[in-house]
Amino acid sequence: MRKLLTGNEAIALGAYEAGIHYAAAYPGTPSTEILENLAKYKEEIIAEWAPNEKVAVESALGASIYGARSLAAMKHVGLNVAADPFFSSGYTGVNGGLVLITADDPGLHSSQNEQDNRYYAKFGKVAMVEPSDSQEAKNMVKIAMEISEKFDTPVLMRLTTRVCHSKSLVEVGEREEVPIRPYKKNLGKYYLAPAVAKQLHVKVEERLKKLEEFSNETDLNYVEWNDKKIGIISSGIAFQYAKEVFKDKASYLKLGFTNPLPMDKIKKFAEEVETLYVVEELEPFIEEQVKAAGIDCIGKDKIPNVWELNPEIVEKSLLGKEREVIEYDKSIVVNRPPTLCAGCPHRAFFYELSKRKDTIITGDIGCYTLGGAEPLNAMDTTICMGASISAGHGMERLIDGYDDNKRVVSVIGDSTFFHSGMTSLLDVVYNKSNTITCVLDNRITAMTGHQDHPGTGYTLQGEPTKMANIAEIAKALGIEHVKTVNPLELKELKAAFDWAYSLDEPSVIISRWPCALKRLSEYDKKEFDYKPGKCEVDQEKCIGCKICVNTGCPAIYFDKEAKKSSINAAQCVGCELCMQVCPVKAISEVGE
Ligand code: SF4
Ligand code: SF4
Repeated sequence: MRKLLTGNEAIALGAYEAGIHYAAAYPGTPSTEILENLAKYKEEIIAEWAPNEKVAVESALGASIYGARSLAAMKHVGLNVAADPFFSSGYTGVNGGLVLITADDPGLHSSQNEQDNRYYAKFGKVAMVEPSDSQEAKNMVKIAMEISEKFDTPVLMRLTTRVCHSKSLVEVGEREEVPIRPYKKNLGKYYLAPAVAKQLHVKVEERLKKLEEFSNETDLNYVEWNDKKIGIISSGIAFQYAKEVFKDKASYLKLGFTNPLPMDKIKKFAEEVETLYVVEELEPFIEEQVKAAGIDCIGKDKIPNVWELNPEIVEKSLLGKEREVIEYDKSIVVNRPPTLCAGCPHRAFFYELSKRKDTIITGDIGCYTLGGAEPLNAMDTTICMGASISAGHGMERLIDGYDDNKRVVSVIGDSTFFHSGMTSLLDVVYNKSNTITCVLDNRITAMTGHQDHPGTGYTLQGEPTKMANIAEIAKALGIEHVKTVNPLELKELKAAFDWAYSLDEPSVIISRWPCALKRLSEYDKKEFDYKPGKCEVDQEKCIGCKICVNTGCPAIYFDKEAKKSSINAAQCVGCELCMQVCPVKAISEVGE
């Protein structure tokens, strides 16, 4: 039977068929759906959301050492968080097969940078595979598990957004029941004290030689002979683009196993073709190694190393051809930058915070990052997960030292607080700065598509579990001043800011209200008095001051000729933020 599956769905199916027993991840686009799809196999696979990628990789490594086939998945920047156990796993090796998935995001569709994680495989000295479509993605999970166990190495599976999210046909197979391997205590392998690690480094280098032999032999790296005037070496989604452009007018060396590279195979292929191109997305990972081996090739001197590749770019770069495109009137396309949703509790929070003078706002990664966009403009920095609190702390230490009057407000989401905010908050307490930390708790990991986390009270499979309490955690970390507020009550929010600004010690404000798009859980229904409704502008009363427009709610629009604002009933959820800011009480609630 064949099914039309995304790459992420295919990986979940591949993991099931490969007999894995354990999987963990922190949600991150474009990798999130791998675990969501693995959750379906709860009879066979223990699948879990971890609070961050480091924990996910460490848990998967633990399960592997115990003897189970295991997997951890993350987006590319997640591997930075997990880099510590990742590099160590390259030394310990595995017992049950271990596959670590990195889903890279060329084009920065939903990320803070565009790193090419193929270099991690080389840096960490582990095997790497790169599928080009969903069928390969499924097959490669099983093959990667076998490589992992045969060569005693974790295998990095590198995906990109197009492979993760595009669909292609996949042959569905049966699960292979792979027994858990016996666990044996082995200090010389799993106990990375310096004396042990020294010996393991020698083994890692020996392993790399064996892996290169395998790379030259495996069918994962295959040649497709056509016209020999042009030869193309490619991997991942870039191979599909090259094939679409050159069809049978070129020969291909398609690389599925990309660390170590099959240098003998590459040399033989290069000798047979007249002109050699390396077509790869982002960095010259293959090209650099091919050139270092003394083989002449054309690559990044023509193909850009920024943003996502596509067949048009490959064609234009290598053949100088412009594709015909349909002309359209660009002025009729609305420029719609990302914005906080209508009724988003973060919007009210940032609206109130943006009024504060002499304030530096350090932000974090999540949908609340949009608090920095127009018209709210309520953010100064966004660096990486958890950095809002630590960057804020660093600034505050300087502000204190230079006797400046500014205050620092660090803004972080609930899931991000659990991910890596807690240790930063401990630093604030330990090193005595007086930052105001605001945890925007919208009761879900909203930006990646509403995944549960330790604070929601539910597991990946939706089973009720112990709910982590942010206020209690903050107090346990040493914060003595903690307040929880409803951000949709602006007076309450203002009072909380006044209170925090008046303190000369660190404080935490928890802005707690469910995401406007959230399907309320049983816990939420008990806690929040939530009644969806609609608001309406009384055109007679409206004086056209645009204060409601400045909240940035996408449900509000302004008629320039009539100089009146109105509310789109289809978008409005009745959060009443605009109602609270209108100076002439022109906005009122009109029911559901
Ligand atoms: S009540 Fe006002 S601010 Fe809230 S969603 Fe409706 S229009 Fe937007
Ligand atoms: S805040 Fe009130 S008066 Fe001002 S534009 Fe909006 S509805 Fe009209």
